[in-house]
Amino acid sequence: MNNIRNFCIIAHIDHGKSTLADRLLERTQTIKITEGQMLDNMDLERERGITIKSHAIQMEYKHNGETYILNLIDTPGHVDFSYEVSRSIAACEGALLVVDATQGVQAQTISNLYMAIEHDLEIIPVLNKIDMPSAMPDEVEDEIIELIGCKREDILRASGKTGEGVDEVLAAIVERVPHPNGDTKAPLQALIFDSVFNSFRGIIAYFKIENGEIRKGDKVKFFNTGMEYVADEVGVLKMDMVPRDVLKTGEVGYIISGIKDATEVKVGDTITHVTRPCDKAIAGFQEVKPMVFAGVYPIDPSEYENLRASLEKLQLNDASLTFAPESSVALGFGFRCGFLGLLHMEIVQERLDREFNMDVITTVPNVSYMVYDKQGNVKEVHNPSGLPEQTMIDHIEEPYIRSTIITTTNFIGPIMTLCLDKRGELINQEYVSGNRVELHFMLPLGEIVIDFYDKLKSISKGYASFDYHIDGFRPSRLAKLDILLNGEPVDALSALTHQDNAVTIGRKMCEKLKDLIPRQQFDIAIQAAIGAKIVARETIKCVRKDVTAKCYGGDVSRKRKLLEKQKKGKKRMKQIGNVEVPQKAFLAVLKLD
Ligand code: GDP
Ligand code: MG
Repeated sequence: MNNIRNFCIIAHIDHGKSTLADRLLERTQTIKITEGQMLDNMDLERERGITIKSHAIQMEYKHNGETYILNLIDTPGHVDFSYEVSRSIAACEGALLVVDATQGVQAQTISNLYMAIEHDLEIIPVLNKIDMPSAMPDEVEDEIIELIGCKREDILRASGKTGEGVDEVLAAIVERVPHPNGDTKAPLQALIFDSVFNSFRGIIAYFKIENGEIRKGDKVKFFNTGMEYVADEVGVLKMDMVPRDVLKTGEVGYIISGIKDATEVKVGDTITHVTRPCDKAIAGFQEVKPMVFAGVYPIDPSEYENLRASLEKLQLNDASLTFAPESSVALGFGFRCGFLGLLHMEIVQERLDREFNMDVITTVPNVSYMVYDKQGNVKEVHNPSGLPEQTMIDHIEEPYIRSTIITTTNFIGPIMTLCLDKRGELINQEYVSGNRVELHFMLPLGEIVIDFYDKLKSISKGYASFDYHIDGFRPSRLAKLDILLNGEPVDALSALTHQDNAVTIGRKMCEKLKDLIPRQQFDIAIQAAIGAKIVARETIKCVRKDVTAKCYGGDVSRKRKLLEKQKKGKKRMKQIGNVEVPQKAFLAVLKLD
């Protein structure tokens, strides 16, 4: 136990976490890097520069004649996965706080740092990318000192690119991070901080042993789910899984126990023994619940069963994705999917497209609302059609987030305007250093899922970083906004919005749809309604379009080509009543201006 160091790397996106991790693995000869980065092994992750799923890897490092076991626990890099980040952090005794010397402290640096401090981790500040000509090492060091109150000498300067300073980082991990501490004789208590799906072995859970030990063949119990298993295999994580007979207090490893269903392994759960269980679970367990919901429909109705199979497969390695069948008058049969956040939703959409070749229509996302009826019953509603009659409702509550925005002083004004516009409430404002400022807002999550990121990015010209976590529910006044095409309500276009914004959103929706829906052979009336009241209207004038009119009789092949082209264009269209609606229209509300 004295020679073990468990640590993670916390950083804002693109500050060089993965690159530095690769250097550590190289320096300790855990891997020889030939190409690409080892920790992000999904294409998608690499492209987005986001470590979606956390992993753990063990290194051996010799320092002053002693051999140390260093366990690097990787953390997902995005707000949607903040609970998983918190569990990874809880498994560590130390953290490298990596800050890009050209960018300085950013929103995610701060929110991850707070989590690490909350768990009493030893923080080792690392100023990264010092090889870059645009690096401002002194200024950024000032920011770090301001942020964590360390001494200037405590900050390590490094470059994940050139390898400079990497040895000092390894030495600091050994010297500064405390070894794990636990009771080797106590009943087993191991924290599950991650799980992965393996098509041959089933679900593999990653854990850190807080107390006691685990042996191959032990009968174990997962405390919060109450499920019991036999530990068919336990071991440590190097480049591959390395089986062991026993793992002891402080060690990080994996367990394989024939689990088929990803939802049985909950991040944050405690593994203990069936015969000699610990008396309480490790603190901090939470059920992660999806917060953002959208309908996902196959464009081709005959693909419904394929879509279900694809979602089931996705769920195997993404237990936070939920789905349930739903049907829409407009779109037919599909699924209501639940996501942790917007990015998670985008990732799922992309994976459906790339890995499963599914053409889907995704409806306007909305958050999960708590609807209280007059009898005091609560119902969770995450679909506009699920909202009870207005007369039945006592009140509705919506989820709020506590957000951190870091920007330069010249953008404070526009960012304030944007956040207030989104029903935000400024909690406080602090200077990070020089002309950089940290703003904290309480905001309704429902406003964030609709075009917030894009707006923030454009008004700050990219000089604002944003991070958040969910902070409970608050009462809200909600309205259901319906859209009608030629008098027919299109359920897939309905949205739940705040009453104060409903009319404006309705008007903008109509304008937007007018642009998005192509002119057809008849006039199309687009209306927005709240209850029975029409609040906006637009008309798309008819056009008589014959794509083959230009080619006269003889040229059959050209005519066929044109028709084919037109058919292709239709692929992403959905017939609603007699109106053809392109897929883009279903997400119109996301891009209102
Ligand atoms: P992550 O999102 O924190 O994991 O960041 P990555 O490790 O993916 O790095 C983001 C980008 O910065 C990549 O293009 C890296 O090649 C680059 N990068 C990372 N570390 C350094 C460094 O020390 N120096 C320079 N010049 N570039 C770096
Ligand atoms: Mg990365």
